[in-house]
Amino acid sequence: MSTSSVIWILTSILVFLLALPSPAQDLGDHDVVSFAKTPEMVRTLQRLQLDLLMEKDGRIYAVVGGRDLLRLSQELIPFAIETPDFPPYSGKHMAVQGGINGEFYSYKEVEAELLALEQAYPTLARVVDIGDSLEGRNIYALKLSDNVHMDEDEAEVVFLGCHHAREWIAVDVPIRIARHLASHYASDARIQALLDRSEVWIVPIVNPDGLEYSIYVYRYWRKNRRFNTDGSYGVDLNRNYSFQWGYDNTGSSPNPDSAIYRGTGPFSEPESRAVRDFVAAHNFQALISYHNYSQIILYPWGYIKEVHPEDELLEYLASNMVGRMAQSNGRVYDYGPAGDSLYTTNGDTTDWALGAEGIPAFTIELPPPDQAHGGFFNDEDDIVPITQENLAAALWLIEWAIDSRESRVVNGTVESTGRRTRRQDVRRR
Ligand SMILES: [Zn+2]
Repeated sequence: MSTSSVIWILTSILVFLLALPSPAQDLGDHDVVSFAKTPEMVRTLQRLQLDLLMEKDGRIYAVVGGRDLLRLSQELIPFAIETPDFPPYSGKHMAVQGGINGEFYSYKEVEAELLALEQAYPTLARVVDIGDSLEGRNIYALKLSDNVHMDEDEAEVVFLGCHHAREWIAVDVPIRIARHLASHYASDARIQALLDRSEVWIVPIVNPDGLEYSIYVYRYWRKNRRFNTDGSYGVDLNRNYSFQWGYDNTGSSPNPDSAIYRGTGPFSEPESRAVRDFVAAHNFQALISYHNYSQIILYPWGYIKEVHPEDELLEYLASNMVGRMAQSNGRVYDYGPAGDSLYTTNGDTTDWALGAEGIPAFTIELPPPDQAHGGFFNDEDDIVPITQENLAAALWLIEWAIDSRESRVVNGTVESTGRRTRRQDVRRR
């Protein structure tokens, strides 16, 4: 063993001891660490299934819990603690509205926006509280339709945002689509025709507790804020749905400390139950769940590397959405079955929506395409273009839902410039 190896080991052990979580310190349950990027290290990190954050200057950054740190030290894997360079936001200086999260929406800002839309467009927009989060925040849905207070015999489509706390752009896209639809009804004939013939539902924040935690305490927070029996926090809401829940320990984790912890049982969490009960009470023709990052449209199955029996329809819908997005800003998304990405996923929203409820369902992993382009951190200047291209996809999907419901026939040609992916480098977020 070389001297440098010994130094690395000693350093790793020392760093590990210094980094041991202290029970009194809420942030102590996770740290940001970095690794020198080598092909061998990439394989190692994939095997360990660490919660990768980004890549910068030849180093790979990840969020790790106490058990991850223990494994890294036991396996003598060299790493550096970067937590001090990623300071948690203090919860004490929150008075400045819009400061800490910039152009991105917080829970309170979304709540205010929804109520403002309802007030400004009382015949078009209606706010519904579909359930409470663990910490008692409201999970809101906004209905957009003509005769919004009547349940009409029309196509229904639902757009879900922010299952994962740190994916802030996944709040902005649905809430900004909502404003666009409501505010253009009077002036845009296409949107008027669309809302006259459909009921569009938008749930901008499925995980309000996590979002607030990510904004005000810890930017990299992913899960909800469940206090687990082992003292760790959080269930991954996008692993908590009932269809093939816990199918294996690759697509979700039984370990509460894991970033992809699936919870103690299917629908153990009030946030996923709220979505379940809301969807069960409606008759949706299509569902989109927004996440980031990867710049790809994914569809079932996610829990196995096999295509769904309705694969042709799913590919038709995804490829057409990709085509509309490319026409909007020139940005090309990939698309394909979720299980074809590097990791399978079990207990997620879309497998459940299609497998249990029969709804064609899509996870749109918003830009950027990879860690090198910013990972979870979208440029504020990109919020509007990302919203625009996703509006184009959403409008097309709503029109498809209307047409397919009225004609019960799916036809037409695929108009995509994207490619059905067999990419092996997509990490499902
Ligand atoms: Zn996500």
